[in-house]
Amino acid sequence: MQLFYLSYFFIIGLVFGSFFNVVGLRVPEKKLFQSQRSYCPHCNHTLSWYELIPVFSFIIQQGSCRQCKRKISIIYPLVELFTAIMFAYSFYIFGFQLELITSLLLVSLLAIIIVTDLKYMLIPDRILLFFFPFFVIMRLFVPLEHWWSPFLGALVGYGVLAVIIIVSRGGMGGGDMKLFALLGIVLGYKEILLAFFLSTLYGSIISIALLALKVVERKKPIPFGPFIVLGSLTSYFYGDFLIRWYLTTFL
Ligand SMILES: [Zn+2]
Repeated sequence: MQLFYLSYFFIIGLVFGSFFNVVGLRVPEKKLFQSQRSYCPHCNHTLSWYELIPVFSFIIQQGSCRQCKRKISIIYPLVELFTAIMFAYSFYIFGFQLELITSLLLVSLLAIIIVTDLKYMLIPDRILLFFFPFFVIMRLFVPLEHWWSPFLGALVGYGVLAVIIIVSRGGMGGGDMKLFALLGIVLGYKEILLAFFLSTLYGSIISIALLALKVVERKKPIPFGPFIVLGSLTSYFYGDFLIRWYLTTFL
């Protein structure tokens, strides 16, 4: 039965991931509710149902448009896979506890952020505002260790990023700051600090690797969103464990 539910959440995740691609692509251009079906950005060829199957269409078409043969961004199947894996993992960790809803919401937010940040270097306010009430309500139903922890988490997330933005003069943007405030509600004040630490750690390691491998050029800004995604998910699922391990090992 466990396997049945894991597959179920995986498949639901693929479908939602495909939807999050559309949301992430269209919200920054304010086209979310336009009724037009998905199309190729190069030749405007409207995609038929068999070109819209998450991940599989990409593999079968070998990553290019059927009409004009130009490359489809690898971001789309990756976001679909990310959502599928993290939906299944959320169920694996929480089962049918209420926290499962928070976890699915968090993964959804982060999947959309990956798309908007990689495509437009942007974290849209409208996405953050959409998730805000849901996270607040979920934290009322499933509180953290203290009732005030989400409040302090939001303040700490916002404050730490504000300091970084002032000190680094534009290393990170206002979108990152608002995202951290929102994540602070979900994670609480300790885990949001850990999420920040892990994001910068992942960011430095991966940036250095990408520069060394010449995948990216020096001076070209690297979007920080994907590292926030990695850092906050690690902190959300393993924060308790990591903080306890750190305290018992070093203090
Ligand atoms: Zn095309």
